[in-house]
Amino acid sequence: MSDSTTPTANLMEAIVSLAKRRGFVFASSEIYGGLNGFFDYGPLGTELKKNIRDCWWDDMVRRREDVVGLESSIIMHPKVWEASGHVAGFTDPLVDCKVSKQRYRADQLFFAAVVVDEKTVGYVSALESENTTGELQTAAEAFKRKKAIQGTLAPIVAKDMTEAREDEIPLIPSPATGEAGSLTAPRSFNMMFQTNVGAMTDASSVAYLRPETAQGMFVDFKNVVDTGRVKLPFGIAQIGKSFRNEITPRNFIFRSREFEQMEMEYFIHEDADWAKCHEEWIAWCEAWLKSIGLPDSHLSRYTHPKEKLAFYSRGTVDIMFNYPFGVQELWGIAARGNYDLTQHANASGKPQEIFDEATKKKFVPHVIEPAVGVDRIFLAVLCAAYAEEEVKDEKGNVEKRTVLRLSPRIAPVKVAVLPLLKNKEQLVGRAQALYTKLKRRYAVFYDEAGAIGRRYRRQDEIGTPWCVTIDFDTIEKPGDTFTLRERDSMQQQRITETELFALLEEQVY
Ligand code: ATP
Repeated sequence: MSDSTTPTANLMEAIVSLAKRRGFVFASSEIYGGLNGFFDYGPLGTELKKNIRDCWWDDMVRRREDVVGLESSIIMHPKVWEASGHVAGFTDPLVDCKVSKQRYRADQLFFAAVVVDEKTVGYVSALESENTTGELQTAAEAFKRKKAIQGTLAPIVAKDMTEAREDEIPLIPSPATGEAGSLTAPRSFNMMFQTNVGAMTDASSVAYLRPETAQGMFVDFKNVVDTGRVKLPFGIAQIGKSFRNEITPRNFIFRSREFEQMEMEYFIHEDADWAKCHEEWIAWCEAWLKSIGLPDSHLSRYTHPKEKLAFYSRGTVDIMFNYPFGVQELWGIAARGNYDLTQHANASGKPQEIFDEATKKKFVPHVIEPAVGVDRIFLAVLCAAYAEEEVKDEKGNVEKRTVLRLSPRIAPVKVAVLPLLKNKEQLVGRAQALYTKLKRRYAVFYDEAGAIGRRYRRQDEIGTPWCVTIDFDTIEKPGDTFTLRERDSMQQQRITETELFALLEEQVY
């Protein structure tokens, strides 16, 4: 039995290490030193990621009658990105350090004036963290001590570099060098990756790797309406790679430059109650995250303030997840009005309207957009599932076990089949027969090497919900039963093959 779950001191470090050790995630091109912001998914990571995608697709598309699928190309006509506003506006504010050549996102680089007895005596800076204000306060105290300034230090007021006045910028120290004078004023940096299509490299061949999958759904809207059997309200969903030249990729796979999105555009009547529909989709997304094992306690909502929304946007709510590095956006659900279809209608000259039988009028549908990153869900499930525990082995000795409490829906391996001894033909034969039958439908692992306790631990660490041991009772006693060992409780019970398949049918969907 599990005696205690101890909080892991550095959860991110433990997860990155497990991900590498057990083949979930590797740095891309690692033998050449890696490439910042790019990752490879190893054998178990590939399975986990595929299961996340498949669960989403099944629940979002196949099990609904009002959503259809799409797979649009990654490189689209460059006019798509002009009409969508990405060429002009898909930017982040960038600050350079002229000395170190480091680049920072201005909204992630914080500074504060050091104010002593109501007089500004200098500036300190810090990169965004879980405790940015605390770090700036400590830096301000150190600054005052170092310069031997007498007087009372005022509590610091943290601002990011987009809020810095022109006269302040030369006085703010660079986080790279600790010295002032090298930071530039923020400027806009477009995050789209550019490429050239065809043999010519000139202005006419410029194209972009898509920074989101969503535009595919807008550009193909008419094709789907004309060919699918869709009627408002309906959705078009897509899963695929997106690319953003992020200034500071960080926090492992949370923010990378190549990532995968699962997006859905839900088209509604222009007179429909968009706020109700928006709320329904937010609730749907929350329930779905829980269905793949994310605990309620780690989820929250962030409603974007009205004054920060784009002019066309009616409302955006992000579902936030409590990652080890802070509460961050996991899933954005935006009510976008009819902005995108209207933009493409104007730019292409092709109307993007639907005919309303009731009013005999044409109109451009409005849209609700739930957009989420597969990699962010992947990291969230690892963070929520990881635990280190002290447990007793069969002899009563206390030992540590690492366990991934992944939902059976997404666990990379559903069942491990373990013959108790590898040199007993009857045990191995029965185990092989069960393994062959199971693997037709499920991802199963066969393991006959080592002590049974150690084999259980190996499966715990990769999140396998069940181990089935073929032991002497299986072959000697009537009933053809196996020992079923459950990962989280570590409890064991005897089970028949029929019961095992029934359990899997119920839990893996
Ligand atoms: P952020 O503010 O974190 O940069 P965003 O608001 O720009 O994200 P959207 O454009 O709404 O993100 O993209 C939808 C979803 O795609 C996000 O909620 C997130 O799950 C995922 N996503 C966006 N950028 C990245 C990235 N660089 N790496 C991994 N996932 C990402």
